[in-house]
Amino acid sequence: MLKRFFPDHYYETIYDIDLSHLKAGGVRGLILDLDNTIVARNSSTATEDLKHWLAKLKEHDIKACILSNNWKQRVSSIAAQVELPLVARAAKPRKGAFKRALDVLGTRKEETVVVGDQIFTDVFGGNITGLRTILVMPMSNHDGIHTKFLRHLERMIMKRWMRAHSS
Ligand SMILES: [Mg+2]
Repeated sequence: MLKRFFPDHYYETIYDIDLSHLKAGGVRGLILDLDNTIVARNSSTATEDLKHWLAKLKEHDIKACILSNNWKQRVSSIAAQVELPLVARAAKPRKGAFKRALDVLGTRKEETVVVGDQIFTDVFGGNITGLRTILVMPMSNHDGIHTKFLRHLERMIMKRWMRAHSS
């Protein structure tokens, strides 16, 4: 039952993701969360590191789409800065949100991976939609009140995940 909340992989940041490994595993598309995954929640600028990483994705023939529950102007501004398609106001973890991103990418479920910093939206939603999932650590401590509460539960789940993956 807990498995629905388990990511397939867990990395500290997006920059630690092994892109060659993804490519070798048939991955052709990434669905990227925005806040605290590719930019800090309080930032309105795409960093050079992020742009460089997205260029590397392209080199690996991996497409990307931003999927965010956020609706603020800031989100579309960041998407424009990195020239990525954006699905905002997404209502993750609903399956419909991920299906919209799949439509934008034009990739199949089996070849698409969700990358995000939240278990209850990104990982759970990706898992129930039939996608592979990668959890990263949040880039900043700035969370909404709702998220702050969920972070406690996330830590409990990740303790179990660590135990399951340490043997
Ligand atoms: Mg996030």
